[in-house]
Amino acid sequence: MLRVEGLSVHYGGVRAAHDVSFTVVPGQSLGIIGANGAGKTSTLKAVMGLAPRQARGLRFGEVDLLKAAPHTLVRHGLGYVPEGRHVFPGLPVEKNLLLGAYTSSWKQTPIDEVYELFPVLKEMRHRLAGALSGGQQQMLAVGRALMCRPKVMLLDEPSMGLSPILVAEIAAVLKRLNDDGLAIVLVEQNAKLTFEVTTTCLVMENGEIAATGTSADLRHDPRVRRIYLGL
Ligand code: ATP
Repeated sequence: MLRVEGLSVHYGGVRAAHDVSFTVVPGQSLGIIGANGAGKTSTLKAVMGLAPRQARGLRFGEVDLLKAAPHTLVRHGLGYVPEGRHVFPGLPVEKNLLLGAYTSSWKQTPIDEVYELFPVLKEMRHRLAGALSGGQQQMLAVGRALMCRPKVMLLDEPSMGLSPILVAEIAAVLKRLNDDGLAIVLVEQNAKLTFEVTTTCLVMENGEIAATGTSADLRHDPRVRRIYLGL
């Protein structure tokens, strides 16, 4: 469904990602882990057309992502939860969610499903997003991406800055969404969370894929521990 072939990202003279390839099929959960600066965020941004990129191929179903404008990708079913959440702090929670559905009819949004998934967002639906805690803002960012009924959702470090309890809550929601058929690409520095949520993982190091495998195998792989711990 999502096919990335030979993707590279350069910011001027800085090589952020080089020759990255992976595919995501319906219902799959793929993790991309790696240390700070390994090129994970750049890879996701490049898929979404938000970073300078070159690729041998980049397709989402029938759509050639190298030709499609970033703002049209949501309509094709590619959801994106950026690093740092980027909610609209001056707007109420519910308006933030509805903005996530701007490409579809506002009368038929899945807002009730999002509220069922994150009851706290329903309780706080009239509050300004800027008044929410970090964890609640992360739930809002995930909920907003769900409002366009994506087929694949790319998430960039949803655990960043969250307490272990909230990380567990986000993990449970991602697993539930994946069980319900949503394909997930999860970029994380938190390897523990990633191994829990995903079935397959890529390990990035210096902009390249250094290892791939099942999450169950990689969890115990000494090479992965070396890359992570820098040993
Ligand atoms: P993190 O977990 O810290 O977000 P990452 O694995 O997502 O790290 P990237 O953010 O993709 O890594 O960064 C990869 C490399 O590209 C780093 O060396 C980074 O400094 C560089 N880089 C990222 N964004 C830019 C930019 N806009 N301009 C120049 N260099 C950049």
